[in-house]
Amino acid sequence: MIRKITLLIALLLANSLFLLAQEQDPVVQAIIKEANENSQLEALGHELMDGIGPRLVGTPQMKKAHDWAVAKYAGWGITARNEQWGEWKGWERGISHIDMVSPRVQSLRGTQLAWSPATPKKGITAELVVLPMVKDSLEFVKWLPNVKGKLVMVSMMQPTGRPDYNWEEFATEKSFARMKEEREEQTKAWNENMRNMGHNTRSLPGTLEEAGAAGIVASYWSQGFGVNKIFGAYTKTIPTVDLELEDYGMLYRLVESGQKPQLHIVAESKDLGVMPTFNTIAEIKGSEKPDEYVILSAHFDSWDGGTGATDNGTGTLVMMEAMRILKKAYPNPKRTILVGHWGSEEQGLNGSRAFVEDHPEIVDGVQALFNQDNGTGRVVSISGGGFLDAYDYLGKWLNPVPQEITDEIETSFPGTPARGGSDYASFQAAGAPAFSLSSLNWSYWNYTWHTNRDTYDKIIFDDVRNNAILTAILAYMASEHPEKTSRTKAVLPISNRTGEQLEWPTPRSPQRKGGLD
Ligand SMILES: [Zn+2]
Repeated sequence: MIRKITLLIALLLANSLFLLAQEQDPVVQAIIKEANENSQLEALGHELMDGIGPRLVGTPQMKKAHDWAVAKYAGWGITARNEQWGEWKGWERGISHIDMVSPRVQSLRGTQLAWSPATPKKGITAELVVLPMVKDSLEFVKWLPNVKGKLVMVSMMQPTGRPDYNWEEFATEKSFARMKEEREEQTKAWNENMRNMGHNTRSLPGTLEEAGAAGIVASYWSQGFGVNKIFGAYTKTIPTVDLELEDYGMLYRLVESGQKPQLHIVAESKDLGVMPTFNTIAEIKGSEKPDEYVILSAHFDSWDGGTGATDNGTGTLVMMEAMRILKKAYPNPKRTILVGHWGSEEQGLNGSRAFVEDHPEIVDGVQALFNQDNGTGRVVSISGGGFLDAYDYLGKWLNPVPQEITDEIETSFPGTPARGGSDYASFQAAGAPAFSLSSLNWSYWNYTWHTNRDTYDKIIFDDVRNNAILTAILAYMASEHPEKTSRTKAVLPISNRTGEQLEWPTPRSPQRKGGLD
């Protein structure tokens, strides 16, 4: 593993030799100038996140985003197309409105989960119940008739809505320790009870639905203030909604104290049957080696609790902006520069896996792929992905990148190939030199990733601009590189977990028909 210091020494040495040449490289200069003086990031971010909104697979908004991207590229003189690779359940989110109507009135903060069945137009009003503590599934089955006509609360009530960092700052050591211990015990008991019922979070809603429940009320706290993760519903006819921790806890306590709280839920949505799924592909044809490819990669889809601003709106913006800049600053690349805006990454890298399966000739011609998909932050780490010689070429390509950008980047070589996580894994599995441009955290995991708070206001445009410059220069350098890059795989290390030699991942087929049963 070669860390920052080693890279710095290498860069310094190289710098003394090439500094003059780099500073005068007119393409690098033009890239930086265009990115800084004519940035389109804010406008693109507004159009995509605020105008089009979240991009859940199978929704009309996803299709709208694909069409928008093609039109944007056309406007920049870049050829683009939407490639269909599969089909998904068609669904469109409508209004979610959740109110407590008894014992008092309060509007609640929550929303229906993706693919939730709709309520009747005027909504439903029903009493809440919580799950019983049972010793076995028999006892649970006996209890089940109690859910008839009721809204069932299926998540554990969190003991605190304050994230741990807040406790750490203000609590006495003793009370922080006690809270954590109690929470751990409560969680353990909750999970054990779930097993006793003979269920898990995935299987339970369907059983409650069959037993006549009126709806499912969940709360998936993301361990930050007011932030929940919003995924898909498991019910087929009754609505599933997620409530924010504050409201969920209040209702739970009201049930437990015998107040019989009632909710009025309006969840509108449209079942649209079957919808085609796409990747948006755009390319600037190579003038010397058109069959070799530098690929810019970022998934286009999102979950729909927020607007997918940092997962993966920002990765999308980086790649679109880099393409726009390259078309201006480097319009006749040696190799073809192709951008892939993949569909349905969130359900299992489906768009990129389909592309790898459908375009073996492109995968064979990959010079390098750069993927960005972990938030809005500036890139702080790049791994060689298990390619033995990546140190050599990636090091050269990073050389002309402004030092204020590379100073932040820690590299590790040769690294190991990914087994999932984002779309570069689909290409690495096929042996193509694909790399992840990994971002600074900016509270990604708790506050934006798959949450109801993944919105435009969380975007750090200076960091995204930084990433567009980095990506455009890397693409330029990869395109100009004298040789085709080596794909020699490093011998992988022994797994800490299994004690066995790690093996290189192999390509997996996408799910080409999803959400339909
Ligand atoms: Zn993502």
